[in-house]
Amino acid sequence: MQRSLYAGEHEEFRASFRKFVENEIAPHRAEWDAAGIVPRGLFTTAGQYGFLGMEIPEEYGGGGVRDFRFNAVIGEELMRSGDAAAGLGLALHNDICLPYFLAYCTEEQKRRWLPGIASGELITAVAMTEPGIGSDLASMTTTAIRDGDHYVVNGAKTFITNGINSDLVITAVKTDPTQKHKGISLVVLERGMPGFERGRNLEKLGQHAQDTAELSFTNVRVPVTNLLGEEGRGFTQLVANLPQERLSIAIAGLAAARAALDWTLAYVAERNAFGQPIGSFQNSRFVLAESATEIDIVEHYIDDCVRALNAGELTAVDAAKAKWWCTELQGRVVDRCLQLHGGYGYMLEYPIARAFADARITRIYGGTTEIMKEVVGRSLGL
Ligand SMILES: Cc1cc2nc3c(=O)[nH]c(=O)nc-3n(C[C@H](O)[C@H](O)[C@H](O)COP(=O)(O)OP(=O)(O)OC[C@H]3O[C@@H](n4cnc5c(N)ncnc54)[C@H](O)[C@@H]3O)c2cc1C
Repeated sequence: MQRSLYAGEHEEFRASFRKFVENEIAPHRAEWDAAGIVPRGLFTTAGQYGFLGMEIPEEYGGGGVRDFRFNAVIGEELMRSGDAAAGLGLALHNDICLPYFLAYCTEEQKRRWLPGIASGELITAVAMTEPGIGSDLASMTTTAIRDGDHYVVNGAKTFITNGINSDLVITAVKTDPTQKHKGISLVVLERGMPGFERGRNLEKLGQHAQDTAELSFTNVRVPVTNLLGEEGRGFTQLVANLPQERLSIAIAGLAAARAALDWTLAYVAERNAFGQPIGSFQNSRFVLAESATEIDIVEHYIDDCVRALNAGELTAVDAAKAKWWCTELQGRVVDRCLQLHGGYGYMLEYPIARAFADARITRIYGGTTEIMKEVVGRSLGL
């Protein structure tokens, strides 16, 4: 069936982003994987080409276009080229962090931060997870205690995407540690604030070019002018942004499954066993037919989610369904496709091997499959 989500302008944007990936990312894949991080220059180059902050109003240096289809194109292209790791930081910056700045910044904060976010000179991150808590966010223990016109921040975060590269970290803190959800606020910690330290850039199973780091805060004095929105509203703010975050992960998961299918179709047509292409065995045809069917059917749900997000109607439940289904599908398809590559599928020079390792986390970050099912289950009155 013909896909109707995108118009000509999105396809033009896709063509230019594809070139950007070919020229600016693909040649450095191995080097960045080995380094465990992408250079900060990737962000400024992306900014120069207009691939950052498409949604930021023009007066603050952005593209001035509120249309998540452009974000979806970026996610799809990064998966198509097998660059989940190098691209994750860009997607996080655009899809997950920027909405907080757009929704909650004061005019003064917008002038201070948005131009740098659009140009890539200010790289963003969001820090919720702590060594002791992930899913159970309301039990976080990082505190921000008011002292005059500052907050004094103490605590630690872990698994933070863009953790090393980031300049602005949206940090979930307890401004009232006696409360659970109602005690949470969001403050922006900035690179260079005394007492704000980066810990290890963590070694991971996959997504090697992505810097995933520990952060620690010891008596960091953060001006109250770095509070995002209202004190005590942090949990509500996080929940409000989760549908877009989860849809972004779902889109990438689905696109990763499609990429795996395409690589495998090419591989099974060329590789022979017992005098015939391995694609001609009934098992191969069935495996690939099942994958193609699942991908095509899910794509329609996801495209509707993108339309709903653009219309301001995507619910937390719709997004939770999208996130768990697409990332589980990604896991299934990538695993089956690796199997059809035989031993070559286990070799990192083949994109399917990297995609297999990169895929495992998507069922965990942004809310685990189990938490997504809890969200859906509650909506059923259970
Ligand atoms: C590569 C990577 C990047 C990340 N990036 C970020 C980031 O940028 N910012 C950030 O804040 N965090 C980030 N995270 C953290 C991620 O969001 C958490 O790992 C995730 O939310 C799960 O939390 P946890 O690891 O503490 O697992 P836990 O919450 O300890 O869960 C462990 C297991 O228990 C299950 N479980 C927990 N509660 C329930 C329940 N109520 N019912 C059923 N099962 C349950 C979970 O589903 C899981 O299977 C990242 C993690 C990784 C690995």
